[in-house]
Amino acid sequence: MEFNPLNQTHIKSLQALVPTERLSTGESVLDLHAQDQSLHTPHRPEAVVWPISRFEVAGILKYANANRIPVTGWGAGSSLEGNPIPVKGGIVLDFSRMNQILNIREGDFQADVEPGVIYQDLNQKLRHTGLFFPPDPGARATIGGMIANNASGIRTVYYGATKDYVLRLTVVLATGEIIELGTRASKTSSGYDLVHLFVGSEGTLGIVVEATVRLVGLPTVFSAAIANFSSVEAAGKAVFGIMRGGLNPAALELIGPECIALMNQEENTDLEATPTLFMEFHGATPSQLAEILKLVEDICRDHGCRHFQPGVGRSERDRLFRARHGLGEMILRKHPACGLLVMDVAVPITAYPELIATIQGEVTAARLTGYTFSHAGDGNVHLNLAGKKGDGQVWERIEGVARRVVTKALELDGTASGEHGVGLGKRKYMAAEHGASLEWMQRIKSLFDPNGILNPGKIFP
Ligand SMILES: Cc1cc2nc3c(=O)[nH]c(=O)nc-3n(C[C@H](O)[C@H](O)[C@H](O)COP(=O)(O)OP(=O)(O)OC[C@H]3O[C@@H](n4cnc5c(N)ncnc54)[C@H](O)[C@@H]3O)c2cc1C
Repeated sequence: MEFNPLNQTHIKSLQALVPTERLSTGESVLDLHAQDQSLHTPHRPEAVVWPISRFEVAGILKYANANRIPVTGWGAGSSLEGNPIPVKGGIVLDFSRMNQILNIREGDFQADVEPGVIYQDLNQKLRHTGLFFPPDPGARATIGGMIANNASGIRTVYYGATKDYVLRLTVVLATGEIIELGTRASKTSSGYDLVHLFVGSEGTLGIVVEATVRLVGLPTVFSAAIANFSSVEAAGKAVFGIMRGGLNPAALELIGPECIALMNQEENTDLEATPTLFMEFHGATPSQLAEILKLVEDICRDHGCRHFQPGVGRSERDRLFRARHGLGEMILRKHPACGLLVMDVAVPITAYPELIATIQGEVTAARLTGYTFSHAGDGNVHLNLAGKKGDGQVWERIEGVARRVVTKALELDGTASGEHGVGLGKRKYMAAEHGASLEWMQRIKSLFDPNGILNPGKIFP
C-alpha cells in the first residue's frame, strides 16, 4: 500500500476537524507515540490527535481515508509486540482524553465506557458496588487497547479474557461510518458475531469509540496458596491435576526458580527458590475454600510437592501477586544493559509440561539467560530472554530459541500468542499458525479497510 506523507495542507484540514490544542506535531509528543513497551524499533507518527468524541474520530478517518494517510489507535502504549507503533507514520489517535465511564448499570452487571478508560480506574469506581471488570493484564492499560489486543492476565483461567466481557461496541470504520455492533442482552444468537471480529483486531479493522462491558460480582471470600516443587515437570503435572479436578482456581501461576530468587532479592519475599505454584481461589464461604485447598494440597503432594503453604492472607497474597506482576521490570533492573524478548506462547493444558521441557532445553543449549513464568492454568507461558543490547550474536541465539519455541507450540496445536497479540513480532508465524485461513483474514481486512490505512504493517506477514 502506498501512503501519502502528512503535509501542511493536511495539517490545516485536520485543524478544521479538531481544535489546534488537541493536535500536535511536536518532537517530544511524536517520540512519546513512537514506541510501546516492546523492543521493536520505534517509529514516529507525523501527528498526534487527542479526540474527545466519536464524531471527531469519524471526521479524521474520513479525511485520512480519502487522502491515504495511515491512522493508528493509541491507548496507554503498554503493548509488548509493537502493536501501536505507527510504522508507516501518519496520524496517531491518542484516546487518553476519551476516558469517561459513561454509565454503570449495576442491575444489569454492565458498564458503558469510552475507549481511553484505564481498567483499574473502572474497578476503583466500581468498588462500592460489589462488582468488578475481571480482565487484568497488570500494566495500566486502557479498555480500548485491551479490546484491540484481546488482553488477559492472571485470573483468565477462571474469569476469561477481555473477549468474554465485551457485549456491544461502537466502531468508526475507515470511511468514517459509525456502526453499532452487538446488544446489551447478556446472550445473543442473532447473526454473525461482528463484536468478536473487532476484539483482537489490533485497530486494523476499525476504531472503537465506545464499549459496553460485562461486570461480575466481587467474590466474598479469597484464599491463596503456594506450593514448591523440585522440578517444573512435577509442577506442570500438578497444574494438570488441579484443572482436571474441577477445582476452579482463580489464578494458577507457575513461577520458575530464577524468578523466585529475583522476587526474594527485590521484594524481600522469603520463598524457596524452586519451581513454585501461586494459586488463588474465590468462593462463597471459608469452609468451601478450606475444602478446596485440602484437595489442592493432596494433588500437589501426589506430584512431589515439597512445601505447601495454604491460607496465605490477603495482604501477603496482594504482595506476592504485585511482585509477580513486577517481574518484567525486576528482570530489566537485574540486567540494566540488556533488552528483553517476551514470549507468550500457549498450548492445550495436556501439552504444557512438554512445552516447558522444550523451553528449558532450548534456553540451556543456547547458553541464554531466561526467566519463565506462566499463566499455567491456561497453558500460557511467558519466556523472557535477556540479551545485551547491540550484541548481535546473543540476539541471533535469542531469535533462534524464540523461533523454535513457537514452532514447538504450533506443533502442539497451540498459538504463537496467548495474549499479547500479533503486532509486529508475531507476523512471521501467522502463515504457519493459520494456514489457508490467513487469506480469509486478509479478505476481511480488505473489506473493512480497502485502502489499508488502519494500523498498517501489523498482523499480516
Ligand atoms: C508490565 C506489563 C505486563 C503485561 N502483562 C500482560 C498480561 O498479563 N496479559 C496481557 O494480555 N497483556 C499484558 N501486557 C500487555 C498490554 O498491557 C496489553 O496488551 C494491553 O491490552 C494494551 O493496552 P494499551 O491501552 O496499552 O493499548 P496500546 O498498547 O496503546 O494499543 C494496543 C493496540 O490497540 C490498538 N488500539 C488502541 N486503542 C484503540 C481503539 N480505541 N480502537 C481500536 N484500536 C485501538 C492499538 O493500535 C494497538 O494495536 C503487559 C504489559 C506490560 C508493560
